Amino acid sequence: MKQVILSAKKEGAVLRRHPWVFSGAIAREDAGIADGERVAVLGADGGQLAVGHYQSGSIRVRLFYNGAEAPPADLWEQKLGEALRVRRNIGLANAADTNAYRLVHGEGDGLPGLIIDVYGGTAVLQCHSIGMHAEREALARALQVIYADKLKAVYDKSRESLPARYAATAQDGYLWGDAETAGSEVKEYGCRFRIDWEGGQKTGFFLDQRENRQLLSHYAPGRRVLNTFCYSGGFSIYALQAGAAHVDSVDVSAKATALVAENSALNGIEPDRHGIYTQEVNAFLRQHEAAPYDIVIVDPPAFAKTLDKRHNAVQGYKRLNALAMQRVAPGGLLFTFSCSQVVDRALFYNTIVAAGLEAGRQMRVLHHLSQGPDHPVSLFHPEGEYLKGLVLMIE
Ligand code: SAH
Repeated sequence: MKQVILSAKKEGAVLRRHPWVFSGAIAREDAGIADGERVAVLGADGGQLAVGHYQSGSIRVRLFYNGAEAPPADLWEQKLGEALRVRRNIGLANAADTNAYRLVHGEGDGLPGLIIDVYGGTAVLQCHSIGMHAEREALARALQVIYADKLKAVYDKSRESLPARYAATAQDGYLWGDAETAGSEVKEYGCRFRIDWEGGQKTGFFLDQRENRQLLSHYAPGRRVLNTFCYSGGFSIYALQAGAAHVDSVDVSAKATALVAENSALNGIEPDRHGIYTQEVNAFLRQHEAAPYDIVIVDPPAFAKTLDKRHNAVQGYKRLNALAMQRVAPGGLLFTFSCSQVVDRALFYNTIVAAGLEAGRQMRVLHHLSQGPDHPVSLFHPEGEYLKGLVLMIE
């Protein structure tokens, strides 16, 4: 293994198990290290501290192993096995009414650059670093070991998550099994969903909202619900199954609304209880000014992926939420979210305050929401926190 040597002043982060080595922390490195290669990270005294994947850029090494020795041959089995134990302990990997969960949440599971979502018998891999992508065959074999005959297929969906310069050559596809063996239906708290990992967004489903959808079930009975940015209808199906009087689901993507219709039928929802609109959300909200809802859900895509886009993103969240607040009937609820990592919890809160002032109504915060426990965040890697939500009661 080639070596990267840290400067004495910058060792602290690695010793505290922060999983990234920034370029500025490196005193020296061997010549000719290729992107994606495994490298040993050494302290200033020459002792090995950790092993990680090298990648040019400001985050130079992503660490997946801490220790002075070479990583063991069965490292991935050990790490994925540990991730599975955690999901069993939180009651997900063995639940009777749920068989979809995130097995690996990158840094939160000590595996920077790697996401693995499990949908019934299929595991979907989404690599964010070229180093993890280079290990995909070994990762698929490790999944076969830890799940044994429960695993029917492993699908690699990394093309759009890899840095753009690698995406051109990456091919999505099955690493184990195929579309026939994979199956595509899962249940989440008893709600049924068809997951399209090949053609859908991200790995196919937004598992991070599971607990928030469950919270919606609690409030939904008898209510009129509007689910904006609905994707495949996660929040909608929960509300309808819980006994909502009526749900309107809105998404600009026709592929998404086709999945909503499919999922609605799969759950035996009467078509007259569910309006499905392929439309831009702002346009929908302006067009339906007269229609008040008891509950409105606003879960847009990340408006900002980088710091330089943050100001515009905040303006966007403010305008959108001010508009959505006006559609909530007196005494009703707004479930509002932001998944932009660069908009932190405090900034999101302040943005919603600004939207509330613009909307000019009294509001109270009932819940502060976040991603589910299968999306853990390392205490020493606060950058892992991204999903924030609030439930407001609007007078
Ligand atoms: N709430 C969803 C996930 C939302 S992902 C769930 O729980 O599954 C964001 C969705 O917003 C995507 O489906 C995308 O197609 C849609 N979208 C993005 N911009 C939009 C816009 N301006 N109007 C309507 N939908 C939009």
